[in-house]
Amino acid sequence: MDLSIRTMMLGSVELPEFHPRAAAGECIIQGFVISHPDGPIVVDTGVADDHDLINELYRPSTTPLIVALNALGIDERDVAAIVNTHLHFDHCGQNRMLPNVPVYVQAAEVEAARSPMFTVPEWAEIAGDRRRVIDGDAEIAPGVSVMATPGHTPGHQSVVVRSGDWVEVIVGQCCYTCAEFIDGTVLPADMHDASLLEVGLASLERLRRLAPTAGYFSHDVEVFAA
Ligand SMILES: [Zn+2]
Repeated sequence: MDLSIRTMMLGSVELPEFHPRAAAGECIIQGFVISHPDGPIVVDTGVADDHDLINELYRPSTTPLIVALNALGIDERDVAAIVNTHLHFDHCGQNRMLPNVPVYVQAAEVEAARSPMFTVPEWAEIAGDRRRVIDGDAEIAPGVSVMATPGHTPGHQSVVVRSGDWVEVIVGQCCYTCAEFIDGTVLPADMHDASLLEVGLASLERLRRLAPTAGYFSHDVEVFAA
């Protein structure tokens, strides 16, 4: 079974002064596609550029999700599912471009997304008929599971892909960089709040303990390779 993972560069934002990573200046935004016999599974949909406040604060440059999929030879009508690692605006911004596709999200994240200033509510809103709410770890298709990895947000999840004896993980933003994954560390400022630091470190440790052969990150082009 071909369960290969491919990366889509979905755009970038300029980081405003209040952002914990402001010193980096810019933040690239990646989504992923898992090949699957049931149809491609998209992990995160990037950012959009039709929101005044986001445009003012973050000056996003975006690649349309459909263009990114087509560039990989994928017909968007074949997409079987979307997984949102979390509901920050730069991870769910183009969910609406695939309006009929089921979206997998953690229950804790749906709850968190209701708090003020968490995200762009219009982008994070998932219509009831396509919302697939998960509480914890679950297999969503043969060989493809989500693992609850709270820390960066209360309902963050990562994606674990298994085929034969190899395991690859889409870390998402459980940690920010490949270097952090290797070291098993996170930047406290990247956590939702200080109370989730221990939880975030434990989430990262769960992923590391899978001993994946590859790991992919939302905001770092570097790919972890064992
Ligand atoms: Zn985030």
